[in-house]
Amino acid sequence: MQFSTKLLHPGCETDQVTGAVSVPIYQVSTFKQPSVDHPGEYDYARSGNPTRRALEETIAQLEGGVKGFAFASGMAAISSVFCLFNTGDHLVVCQDVYGGTYRVLTRLFNRFGIQATFVDTTDLDKIRRAIRDNTRALYLETPSNPLMKITDLAGAVGLARERGLLTIVDNTFMTPYLQRPLELGADIVVHSATKFLGGHSDLVAGLVAVKEERLAREVGFVQNSLGAVLGPQDSWLLMRGMKTLQVRLDREQETAGKIAEWLAGRPEVTRVYYPGLIDHPGYGLHRRQAKGPGAVLSFELSTPELAWQVMERVQLPALAVSLGAVESILSYPVTMSHAAIPPAERHALGITDSLLRLSVGLEDADDLVADLAQALEAL
Ligand SMILES: *Cc1c(COP(=O)(O)O)cnc(C)c1O
Repeated sequence: MQFSTKLLHPGCETDQVTGAVSVPIYQVSTFKQPSVDHPGEYDYARSGNPTRRALEETIAQLEGGVKGFAFASGMAAISSVFCLFNTGDHLVVCQDVYGGTYRVLTRLFNRFGIQATFVDTTDLDKIRRAIRDNTRALYLETPSNPLMKITDLAGAVGLARERGLLTIVDNTFMTPYLQRPLELGADIVVHSATKFLGGHSDLVAGLVAVKEERLAREVGFVQNSLGAVLGPQDSWLLMRGMKTLQVRLDREQETAGKIAEWLAGRPEVTRVYYPGLIDHPGYGLHRRQAKGPGAVLSFELSTPELAWQVMERVQLPALAVSLGAVESILSYPVTMSHAAIPPAERHALGITDSLLRLSVGLEDADDLVADLAQALEAL
C-alpha cells in the first residue's frame, strides 16, 4: 500500500460494532469486566482506550513499527522514552536539539543521574568520540531545529549497533511521510504530533513508535506507570488531522521551496537554511534518507533589527511558537523554541539574534512571498 492509502486505511479505521467510518470517541475511564477471572481487552483507560489504541496502531503502521504509543504532548512522549534509562546511563544527543528536550535532560533527568552530551551529530566522528562505556543511546533530530542540519541516520545507527546503543529519532519535522527512521535501523521514533501530524494548531499530543516487541513492552510499561496518556477526544482529533497529512505536506513543501529560493536571492537575507536548496551542506544526504525537504526553513537577516522588523510587519504568518500547521507560523528561536538554551551556547550553535524560522502553511505561495517582501522593505 502506498503511504496516502495507509493514512486512510491503517486497518483500524472502521468501528467493528457499527461500521462507523470514523473511530468513535470512547469517552470513558473504566470498562465492565466480563468476569473476574477473564478480564476484557480493556480494563482502565490509562492502560488502554479504544480511541487511543486506534491512533497508536496508526502511527505504528505509518512508521513501520510493531507498536505505537500516544502521549499528552511531545514532551510527555520524549520524557517517557527517557524513562527507559537508569541512574548512571549516558546519552549522546544532537547539539541543536529541541529546547524542551534540552531542558528536560539538563534540568530534570540530570537530577536522576541520567547524563547527556550534546554533540554535532552531522559529524559521525564526533558521535563516536562522545560515546562512553555508560552510553546507552543516541538521540537525534534530522533536519535539526532551527538550523536544519542533516545527520546521517544509517551511519549513526551503524555506530550505535557496534556499541549496543539504542537509536532514538525525533521525526517531528519530517513525519513518516517524508522520513522513516525505523526503516533505516533506528529503534524508537518520537513525535510532537502537535505539529505536522495534527496539522491544524488545535491540539497538543505526542507519539512514539518502536521497532521491536521488547521495547514495546518497556515503553508500554512506562506509559502505563507514568500515565502521561493522550485523552480520547484529542486522539480522535489527531487521527482526523493525520488523514490529510500527505496532501498538506505536499503543498506546504512546494511553497516552502519557492520561498526558500526567493529568500536566497534577497540582499537583506544573509543565509537560508533549507535542505531543499542545492547548496545546503546536507542536501545530498537528506535526499538519500528522506523523501523531501519538508516545509520548515530558517533564514538569517543582515541585522537583528531587520529580524524584528519582519516579525512586526508580516501579515500572513502568525508570529508564534510551533510549526507544521495549515497556517504559516513565523518564530524567533532565540526567545521561543531555544530560549531554554543559555545565550552563549545558543550563539555558538549559530542560533543568532537575526535568525527567523518559518513554517510554511497552505496559504498561496505568491501571497506569502508578497507579504515577506513588504515586511523586508526598508522603512
Ligand atoms: C514541539 C516539539 C517538541 C515538543 O512537543 P510538544 O508537543 O510541544 O510537547 C519536541 N520536538 C520537536 C522537534 C518539536 O518541534
